[in-house]
Amino acid sequence: MSTHVSTERLEAITSSILQPTAANGVQGRTAVFEDVIGGLTALITRHRPIGAEVLRFPPVMSRALLEKSGYLKSFPHLLGCVSSMTGTEAKIRALVEGRADGQEWVEALAATDLVLTPAACYQVYPIVAARGDVSVSGTVVDVESYCFRRETSSELGRMQAFRMREYVCIGAPETALEFREAWKARAENLATQLGLPFTLAPASDPFFGRAGKLMAVNQVEQALKFELLIPVNSEEAPTACMSFNYHQDHFGTTWGLRTDDGAVAHTACAAFGLDRLTIALFATHGLDLEAWPRSVRDALGL
Ligand code: AMP
Ligand code: ZN
Repeated sequence: MSTHVSTERLEAITSSILQPTAANGVQGRTAVFEDVIGGLTALITRHRPIGAEVLRFPPVMSRALLEKSGYLKSFPHLLGCVSSMTGTEAKIRALVEGRADGQEWVEALAATDLVLTPAACYQVYPIVAARGDVSVSGTVVDVESYCFRRETSSELGRMQAFRMREYVCIGAPETALEFREAWKARAENLATQLGLPFTLAPASDPFFGRAGKLMAVNQVEQALKFELLIPVNSEEAPTACMSFNYHQDHFGTTWGLRTDDGAVAHTACAAFGLDRLTIALFATHGLDLEAWPRSVRDALGL
């Protein structure tokens, strides 16, 4: 199996399975792309932990909850906020009917109580916390959301808006860590079923600024994040298509999440980048679905 992807191949992928738009990193998904996403979604669902609660979210969430999560300290550069026009009817009418100067309507925008969700699991912690203690044996949530990140690069697979599916575990420290480890192994198995060449490597999040560099080093040293990487753009810089994260007590402390033995809960998540996995499948197996290996099509139910 060739893992070398030529520039022409990348361009073909970009233009035939995704519909570019005027906005960088915002694409329309074609029918064949959605077929593959559907197959992936079903495959991931077949691996859903028994008893997991299913929650699906729209692409926006409460700004107050995201602020409390600590997102602004770590990733302010990636956040997108929902703003809207405020003021009297007369003022708004003047702004939108063009009687005001060019960009004045943009300047009249004010932040609302909503932000664009940057990762699916942020929605889960406050919801579970509000219900009271979780059992030491852990609780698992299956969550999916369209996510937004203010990405500036336009390389294939780095989108501003993309779908993220996650299995999130909240429980005792060893429960959360075991969950994360088990998913690393399961994900390798999934990638193998899908005929995708991959490596699994320690990773760090793109923390903001100079202080962020230290946080990233820390994250790698403590082995808190792993990524399943697939060569899409190049062998040298493979693309992160899934991540396996152990947050220790970060969300537990933030949200007052406790296990029923009174201890602060720890959390972990396994995240699947559905659009990136789909792009990786096309980059690996080609643009003609009919020509994909039978085993891969079977795994995807295609
Ligand atoms: P992360 O929270 O950064 O570990 O993201 C989880 C998964 O979402 C990654 O492994 C990717 O597959 C996917 N993802 C993250 N950022 C992007 C992006 N800019 N475009 C497309 N997919 C992304
Ligand atoms: Zn997560």
